[in-house]
Amino acid sequence: MTQPQTPFYLIDKSLLRANMEKIARLRDRSGARALLALKCFATWSVFDLMRDYMDGTTSSSLYELRLGAEEFGKETHAYSVAWADHEIDEAVSHADKIIFNSLGQLDRFVGKAGGIATGLRLNPRFSTSGFDLADPARPFSRLGEWDIARLDAAMDRISGVMIHYNCENADFDLFDHQLGRIESEFGDILQRLDWVSLGGGIHFTGDGYPLDRLADRLAAFSQKHGVQVYLEPGEASITGTTTLQVSVLDLIDNGKQVAIVDSSIEAHMLDLLIYRETAKLPQDGPHEYQIAGKTCLAGDIFGDARFARPLKIGDRIGIADAAGYTMVKKNWFNGVAMPAIAIREEDGTIRTVRSFSYDEYKSSLS
Ligand SMILES: *Cc1c(COP(=O)(O)O)cnc(C)c1O
Repeated sequence: MTQPQTPFYLIDKSLLRANMEKIARLRDRSGARALLALKCFATWSVFDLMRDYMDGTTSSSLYELRLGAEEFGKETHAYSVAWADHEIDEAVSHADKIIFNSLGQLDRFVGKAGGIATGLRLNPRFSTSGFDLADPARPFSRLGEWDIARLDAAMDRISGVMIHYNCENADFDLFDHQLGRIESEFGDILQRLDWVSLGGGIHFTGDGYPLDRLADRLAAFSQKHGVQVYLEPGEASITGTTTLQVSVLDLIDNGKQVAIVDSSIEAHMLDLLIYRETAKLPQDGPHEYQIAGKTCLAGDIFGDARFARPLKIGDRIGIADAAGYTMVKKNWFNGVAMPAIAIREEDGTIRTVRSFSYDEYKSSLS
């Protein structure tokens, strides 16, 4: 297939490789292992490239777990906020490690782990998330155990813990400080473990991030406590690699120039709507437009963009950062055509790896 009709997500492999090279550098220098967090990005057509630079995958459900085992391979961590009785045997069959969210789930299922490594989620009760919705340390959080007595009660049955508390944290000093807090509050426990996963949310592939300082901090942590460190980068793995390509269908002047495109923020970039953020749109030139989606939702608006020339019907617009928490959330709202998935190869050619039809819209319901 050649370049598809818009809308389509376009993954740029050379940009993806640049992120992967940063991950590889971090792994080499720190000794930490890096697992792709599939809840952020699960577009398996590019796993061939990612596999050479990462150690495997981590998951938040049975289906993600199975996808990681089938399509990525290498090391596969299984985590879920709550496993069901009917899932546990299959989960264990796909996993190298299974991480329980609560002492209750550990008690219930550890006997079924069949010899694979088991862990527990530790919630340090602080985080870097600015959004209540995504804050694992929010009041009454259900994500992990923090009580030392409850953690102690698990120690004879676990070999590690997973601590996910960062969220797009680009501030190394804050990371360093919070890791120090974890060491002082939970050091006794860490000392008795074989591995510690520090979760995702560290924005270490961003421009200007002090990657080597992070690597050295992780190496020191690993050495001090005698643990294998894991990281679970989602957003950091794929940030900046992908665009959503759309075309202008109509131009309206309502006191503001509005360009309606063949896509929808609710259907194709839902995460932005949930967190009330605007899309990353072109910002060069004097001609300003509000870029809006084609659903019936009044607020289906990507944001404001600027162009060198006035827009015309049929013009193509690329919306940046369309990989993380984006492709995994696309949906059929309003029956808007689902974006195809295309890859820009490193020689510049564009290859369509998936397109969606009416039949798939129909078969998503019954
Ligand atoms: C969401 C999540 C990740 C990935 O987070 P990013 O911010 O995308 O890096 C990693 N681990 C766990 C447990 C998660 O819930």
